Amino acid sequence: MNERQNRFVFLFIVRFVFLFIVLHSSFCVSFLSLQVVVTRTGDQSRQAHLDLSGGLEGVSHQRKHSPMRNLFSGNEIYSIQAPVESGLEALTHSFSSRLRQEGIDLRRKAVETLQINVGRLCNQACSHCHVDAGPRRTEVMTRQTMDKVLSFLAASPIPAVDITGGAPEINPDFRYLVRRAREMGRQVTVRCNLTVLFEPGREDLPAFYRDQEVELICSLPCYLQENVDGQRGKGVFVKSIEALRRLNRVGYGRAETGLLLHLVYNPVEAVLPGPQDELEADYRQVLGEQYGIAFNRLLTIANMPINRFADYLRRRGEYADYMATLRASFNPDTLERLMCRSLVSVDWEGNLYDCDFNQMLGMDLGGSPLKVWEAPPEALAGRRIRVGEHCYGCTAGAGSSCGGALV
Ligand code: SF4
Ligand code: SF4
Repeated sequence: MNERQNRFVFLFIVRFVFLFIVLHSSFCVSFLSLQVVVTRTGDQSRQAHLDLSGGLEGVSHQRKHSPMRNLFSGNEIYSIQAPVESGLEALTHSFSSRLRQEGIDLRRKAVETLQINVGRLCNQACSHCHVDAGPRRTEVMTRQTMDKVLSFLAASPIPAVDITGGAPEINPDFRYLVRRAREMGRQVTVRCNLTVLFEPGREDLPAFYRDQEVELICSLPCYLQENVDGQRGKGVFVKSIEALRRLNRVGYGRAETGLLLHLVYNPVEAVLPGPQDELEADYRQVLGEQYGIAFNRLLTIANMPINRFADYLRRRGEYADYMATLRASFNPDTLERLMCRSLVSVDWEGNLYDCDFNQMLGMDLGGSPLKVWEAPPEALAGRRIRVGEHCYGCTAGAGSSCGGALV
């Protein structure tokens, strides 16, 4: 070959190698965007985050039941179970791009509620649970952590405390937390699953709630036994009805006492809740006429496409349809009243989050772990809220929050 031919062959090889590297890199990036290697430590997996600017914001990864194993490192590989169907979906329909379309920079206003999740231990293991709570969970807030959370509360003007779990009453220091918060003059709400009233040593809870003037938000996803037992476990409906009667007997749900008892409805199937007022009227009629039960308000809450409910949808092949329903039902009128705009959430270890859902996805406040005792209360207002595709669950239709429909 002459010099000209040599040069041509050389340039051809260089171009070929360059093209190969580019294509291979693209493939690797795509692959990595869908999988994350998580090192398993004991019974707990470490959760990792991808935070690709502007795209897959705040994606988190949950452990799968049957993990694959990385051939090179031996670590288990868990597929992303964040509410993102694919990189393309996320880029074209991401919640953050939807906010941009609306011209909304989602930030917290003044903090009105400190939501404290005292652990994931629960006497039930409901199929729709966004906490993945159950009787075998070991995450329980200690008295030491509780004291630090209470110190934060004392130093803040936050007027309301919302205690959740798991079943918060199972935490051995639950009553201590309630009493201390009440001594500080804060309004206290407890999210009660009703059946916990039948756990050993918890039978006197109705009187305790009454004495502490706790506001109760109790789960009862339907007034039909079949639906409640199907979602929450066999026998739960009968126990829930009896628990409500006991609460009514100490004065809860009666207008004249001021002791507030709200019920929570969430759909059994993968659909949005119906109109809150109409459902409330149905509940009032059926529970009143058939069981003699009184309550104050019914709160409708959409099922969040994360954790156990996301698994449930995937098993039934309904995940994509449910996400499509949530996106198609996006309602900008809900944005002003999203609970993350007036609430901060703290987990059993004292870490702060924008809400309980972000907590369950491991999406730390502001993108890095921040303990409640490291955060000056005044620094929480004005912070940008971390969002993900699950946020469509809060903005669909009439909206959804810990306090029910938003509009
Ligand atoms: S939904 Fe509530 S009662 Fe059911 S497992 Fe989860 S925390 Fe427990
Ligand atoms: S899940 Fe709901 S409350 Fe939480 S950050 Fe998203 S929109 Fe806000």
